Amino acid sequence: MKVKLLGAAQEVGRSGILLTLEDGKKVLLDYGVSLEGEEPQFPLPVKPRELSLVALSHAHLDHSGALPLLYVSSSPPLLTTPLTLSLSDLLIRDFLKLSKYYIPYEYSEVKNMMENSLLRGYSETYDLGGVSVTLLDAGHIPGSAMISIDTGSYTVVYTGDYALHDTCLLRMGDKSALSRADLVITESTYAEFDHPPRDWVEREFIETVTEIVEDGGTVLIPSFAVGRAQEILCVLAKYNFPHKVYIDGMARAANDLILEDSHMLRDPGLFEKAVSMVSKVRDWDDRKKAVEEPSVIVSPAGMLHGGPSEYYMEKIMEKEKNAVIFVSFAIPETPARQVLETGIFASPTKKGMVKARIEWFDFSAHCGRSELVESIKISKNSAKFLLVHGEAEAEKTLAKHVEEYGRTALVPGLGEEVEVEL
Ligand SMILES: [Zn+2]
Ligand SMILES: [Zn+2]
Repeated sequence: MKVKLLGAAQEVGRSGILLTLEDGKKVLLDYGVSLEGEEPQFPLPVKPRELSLVALSHAHLDHSGALPLLYVSSSPPLLTTPLTLSLSDLLIRDFLKLSKYYIPYEYSEVKNMMENSLLRGYSETYDLGGVSVTLLDAGHIPGSAMISIDTGSYTVVYTGDYALHDTCLLRMGDKSALSRADLVITESTYAEFDHPPRDWVEREFIETVTEIVEDGGTVLIPSFAVGRAQEILCVLAKYNFPHKVYIDGMARAANDLILEDSHMLRDPGLFEKAVSMVSKVRDWDDRKKAVEEPSVIVSPAGMLHGGPSEYYMEKIMEKEKNAVIFVSFAIPETPARQVLETGIFASPTKKGMVKARIEWFDFSAHCGRSELVESIKISKNSAKFLLVHGEAEAEKTLAKHVEEYGRTALVPGLGEEVEVEL
């Protein structure tokens, strides 16, 4: 079979992997945009009419944001989970609405994409003319899936973004498919690092937040609307955080969609409790009130790049008793990264030193190094690993681990089509 990377080749962002199976069927795995830097970057083009199937791992825009492009002149079937479809619709529409740059598709293509979806739950199989395609829990964000493709003569597993540790929100990813795969197409984001133990991170986080609020401060938690915002709410609920918690921006709508499919979560009861504990910010009056109160505000954008978090940051940065707590990897060239590295916050309307406390906690929803190594250990001795979704150094490190365990590592470049013998 052949594999061609249309994006996410030695980079994080704009995932797009084109498989050509032995019988000539073409299957596209994810089609996302890269949001690093100013202007969104799209993956390499593909002929939508030639695609037998498009399979989407999860809703994050670096996996879903270019999909509507496939529906401009064609309508290939899109296989994913119901929750990934509804969250992708939310994120893509928001991306279209807020982008300052030209996006080469419109709402009608998003609608066309929705209408051509084939929805499956975890471990349910779709039969693509004798090829079985199965979605398995990836443990990354609500609805996220690994994609397993079994042709009868070999099995390919695409991990998407995945985690092999439990979080408050999600069970760890389903490892079973990894041990059956002849080819594992794996993300490599954190191949160079291990995450600290989750329990420890949660307790440190709760202690810090409690201390600041009890001293009269306001805590801003800039957070991605889907996944991390819900995880933070669940951590606060798990520890019965007794103070006011606000939620703003698209995280509110994401909560509603996730509530509808809460059976996909590790503990639906905890999430329901978390949502019932928070106050929704509905308008500017609520926003102005929230920044003056000892409270926790969870709000997109996660990188302080637009969204209500930009407004909150301009306000809370002025007082030492306040804090801004980052809970995601800080993407280079974003205001969040600048705050962490220099203590300076710059928005289109304000620039200055942050007087509030600045903290960062590792709530990653990706595999750390040991988890990636575990995936190698449980794979077949003859398995091949094709690496995507990692910076060049990270992919190099992971390739070394793959070879240490006697498996074969493939690291194709952008646009390169590799023939894989299985
Ligand atoms: Zn993701
Ligand atoms: Zn990703």
